[in-house]
Amino acid sequence: MSPSIPERTAPDPRDDLRGAVRDLVVNLAHAPLGEGRFWAVQAMVIGLFVVHLVTTIAPIHHAIPVSDSTIDLLLFIPIVYGGAAFGLVGSLGASLTGIALTVPMQLLMDHPTSEIWQEWAVLATTVVVAIQVGHHYEVERRQRELLRQVERTKVESELRALRIDAESQRALARRDALFRDAFENNTSGMYLLDRDGHMSDVNRAFCEMIGRSEDELLGHSPDAFRLNEDVMVAEEHRRRLTSGSIARVHYTTRFVHRDGRVIFGELAAACLNDEQGEPETIVASVRDATDERALLAELEHQALYDPLTGLANRTLFEDRLSRSRALVAREGGTNAIFLLDLDDFKGVNDTFGHHVGDQLLVEFARRMERVTRASDTLCRFGGDEFLYLAQGITGSYEEVAYRLLSAVHEPFTVAGTSLEQRMSIGVVVLDGESMDNDELLRNVDTALYEAKRRGKGTVVRFTNDMHDRASSRYELLRDLRAALGTDQLMMKYQPLVDLASDEVVGFEALMRWQHPSKGAIAPDLFIPLAEQTDLIVALGEFALREATTTAASWTVKHGRAPYVSVNLSTNQFRDPNLLALVDEALRTSGLDPDRLVLEITERAALADTVQVATVLAHFEDRGVRLALDDFGTGYSSLSHITRLHPHIIKIDRSFIVAADDDVASRALLDAMISLGRRLQLTVLAEGIETETQLTYLRGLGCEVGQGYLFAPALSNDEVATLLRASTSERWSARTTTHATAPGNRNRRNASATRLSHSK
Ligand code: C2E
Ligand code: MG
Ligand code: MG
Repeated sequence: MSPSIPERTAPDPRDDLRGAVRDLVVNLAHAPLGEGRFWAVQAMVIGLFVVHLVTTIAPIHHAIPVSDSTIDLLLFIPIVYGGAAFGLVGSLGASLTGIALTVPMQLLMDHPTSEIWQEWAVLATTVVVAIQVGHHYEVERRQRELLRQVERTKVESELRALRIDAESQRALARRDALFRDAFENNTSGMYLLDRDGHMSDVNRAFCEMIGRSEDELLGHSPDAFRLNEDVMVAEEHRRRLTSGSIARVHYTTRFVHRDGRVIFGELAAACLNDEQGEPETIVASVRDATDERALLAELEHQALYDPLTGLANRTLFEDRLSRSRALVAREGGTNAIFLLDLDDFKGVNDTFGHHVGDQLLVEFARRMERVTRASDTLCRFGGDEFLYLAQGITGSYEEVAYRLLSAVHEPFTVAGTSLEQRMSIGVVVLDGESMDNDELLRNVDTALYEAKRRGKGTVVRFTNDMHDRASSRYELLRDLRAALGTDQLMMKYQPLVDLASDEVVGFEALMRWQHPSKGAIAPDLFIPLAEQTDLIVALGEFALREATTTAASWTVKHGRAPYVSVNLSTNQFRDPNLLALVDEALRTSGLDPDRLVLEITERAALADTVQVATVLAHFEDRGVRLALDDFGTGYSSLSHITRLHPHIIKIDRSFIVAADDDVASRALLDAMISLGRRLQLTVLAEGIETETQLTYLRGLGCEVGQGYLFAPALSNDEVATLLRASTSERWSARTTTHATAPGNRNRRNASATRLSHSK
C-alpha cells in the first residue's frame, strides 16, 4: 500500500486528518459505554501519543529526515488502528484487535523511513499489546470477581432463606404464645369447637360469663348452655362457617347462666381449616353485652316512657297514633283521642311543692290505667296533661269520658293529704278523616281549651268551628295583656244571699273577658294563664279597684249596703304591695273597709304561713274581712280554719252538687256547716242551683248562698235593678231557673235578664 503524498503548497491535508481525529474523539466521547469504546479510546490515546512524538521530537533530530508523507502515514496509523479497534474490539474480542493492530504495523515496517520511527512504532505496538494483555487480565479479573459475587450472593440468599425460616418459626411460636395468652386472658369469653361442634377449649372469661367450670363445658356443645330459642340460629351460623360459605360470623346470642340469668353475648366466630382445607376448628369469642343491653333498654324506655309515671311519652304516643290512624284508614272503626288536664294541679304544686305534685300525678296515672284498656295508649303529654288513645271504641266517646271523669271523683290521698281534683277533657273522634298527628294533637288541645273555657270538669269534643275561637295559650296571653285597660275586661257581680231572709248581703266580684273574636273566655281559663306571669298582679289590681269603686256606689233603702267579695290569686297574696294596694283602693273608692271581703283559696292561704299570718293581721286591723274560697276542696284539714281565722268559709260547689244524691257528701256538708257555726264563721254555700239544694242547706243552717238559682254574675246596672227590687220580686224567676249541666253555665245570664226585667 503506497499512500499518496500531497503537495506542501496545497492546503495542509493534515488539517482534514486532524479534523477527522477530532470528530472521532467527539463521537467516541458520545458513544455508549462499553468495551468497544474503552479500546477505541486506548488506541486513540496511543496513536496521538505517537503523533506527538513524531511532530515534537523528530524536528529536534534534524538528522532524521522526516517527510510530510511519513508524518501523514504516522497520523494514519492511529486512525486506522483506532477505527478498526473501535469497530472490532467490542464485538470480536482481543485476538482480532491484535490483527487490526498488526496490519498497519506491518505496512509501516515494509516502508521504513527511519529506524527511530520503527522503534517508536514497535514501542507503540508493545504498549498497545501490553494494554491489550492488561485488559485481558482485567476482563478475567472482573469475570472472577463477578463469579465470586455471584457465589457470595448465592450464599447470602441461602443464608437469608435459612434466617427467614428460623424467624418464621420463631414468629409462629410467638404468635402461638400470643394467641394462647389472648385466649386465656381475654376479657371476652372464648371457646374452640372441634369438628363435632363440641368445645375443645374454653377460657376463664367464658366460664365466668355463664357460671360454669371448664370441666362442665369441655366436650359439650355451647348450645347446651344457650337459650332454646337461639339454638337454631347458632346451628345455622356454624353450618355456614364450616361449609366455607362465609369466612366469619357475628351475631347476638343468649346463654343461660347457672343462676338462671339470661346473658346476652355478642358472638364473633371464624373457622380454621386443616392442611387439606377441611374445617378443623371454630374459634368463637363472646362479649358479654348484658349490662349494655339493660342500659339500652333503659335508654329506650326513657326515650319512650315518662320517667315519673311510667306512661308512654309523647314520642311513643305519636307512634301509636300513626299506627292507629293507618288501621282506621285500612279497616275502618272509630278511635278517639282524649286530652285530660287536671284543673287544680297548679295549686297543689304551689301549696305542697313539686314532690307532692309529682306523687299526685303518679296516683292519677294509676287511676287512669284502671279505667282504660291495657291495649290502648295512655301517655303523659307534659305537666298535668295526659293523652288517652282509645282504639276501636264501640260505645260513644261520652261513655269513655265519663269513665275517665269518674276516676277522679274520689279525692286523692298523697303524703297524708286528701286532694280533690277535677279534670277537663278535650276529645277528637277519629273516624276515617285524614288528619296528620300534629293536626290531631292541635285539635284535641283546642277542644281541651274550649272545655276549660266553659268551666272546670267539662268534656268537649272538637268541632271544626272551634278553630276560629280557640287559640294557643300564647296568643291568649298576648290578647289578655292587650285587653287590660279596655272594655273587653270587666267585673260582674254575683249576689250572695242570706238564706234565711233571701236578702242580698253581698256580691262576689268575678272578672269577665269578652274577647273580640273568641267571645266570652272563662276566668278558669285565663286566670291560671295570667298566674303564670306577672299579668295576674295587674289583673288583680284592676279587679280590686273596679270592685271597690263599684261597691261604693251601691245603696239600699234599708239596712246595710251589701259588701263586695274580691278574689285574690295565690301570687297576689304573696305580693308585698298587696297591703298598700288594698289601702289605696279603699281610700280612693271611699268604701268602708268592713264592706270589703277578700277571698283566698285554701291553697293560697297555706302557701306561706308566715306571710299569710302577717297579711291577715293587717286586714284584721283595717276591718277588712277574709273568706276562705272553695273550702273543702282537699287542700287543708278543717284545723286550718282555726289557724287562719277567716270570717267566711265558702263551701265549694262540688259538695253542694254531690249532696243531691250522695249520703257521704251530705254528711260532710253537714259537718262543715256545723263546724263553721261552732267557730262562729259565716258559712256560705257556692253554686246553689236547685230548690232542693237550697232547702237542704237551709235545713243545715247554712247562712249565705250563691248560685245560679238566685242569679249569675251581673253587670253593675243589673245589680242596681236587683238592689232596687223588693225581696219577693227579686227571686221571682228562681223557680223557673234550672242550672245543672256544666255546658249551660254561661247561659245563666238568661236568668239574669229575666231577673232584671222582673220588675
Ligand atoms: P270562684 O271564686 O269559686 O267563683 C265562683 C265561680 O262559680 C264563678 O265562676 C261563678 O260564676 C261560678 N258559679 C256561681 N254560681 C254557680 C252555679 O250555680 N253553678 C255553677 N256551675 N257555677 C256557679 P267564674 O266566674 O267562672 O270564676 C271561676 C273562678 O275564676 C273563680 O272561682 C275564681 O277562682 C276565679 N276568678 C274569677 N274572677 C276572678 C278575679 O277577679 N280574680 C281572681 N284572682 N280570680 C277570679
Ligand atoms: Mg271566689
Ligand atoms: Mg269558689
